[in-house]
Amino acid sequence: MALMITAECINCDVCEPECPNGAISMGEEIYEIEPSKCTECVGHFDEPQCVQICPVACIPVDPNHTESRETLWQKFQRLQAAASA
Ligand code: SF4
Ligand code: SF4
Repeated sequence: MALMITAECINCDVCEPECPNGAISMGEEIYEIEPSKCTECVGHFDEPQCVQICPVACIPVDPNHTESRETLWQKFQRLQAAASA
């Protein structure tokens, strides 16, 4: 599953640089996660790095983007291929 950032976000900025996929960016009011780039950190880390570091625990899984670990792994490989193209 991709993760999502809820309205509890306090815009503390710490998660954005932690994302290995560059999936986190500032939105209109709070930070946002681009679902097509979020692999739940599969391929990079054992645990989602944004969740680990967020001080207010406002990054749950996105129910609209449920994906299996296999699908996340395939997304990771696509992102890697695109990055090295
Ligand atoms: S779970 Fe990992 S890939 Fe997804 S937004 Fe958080 S840091 Fe980025
Ligand atoms: S770490 Fe949490 S509170 Fe801070 S910007 Fe990211 S989502 Fe928002």
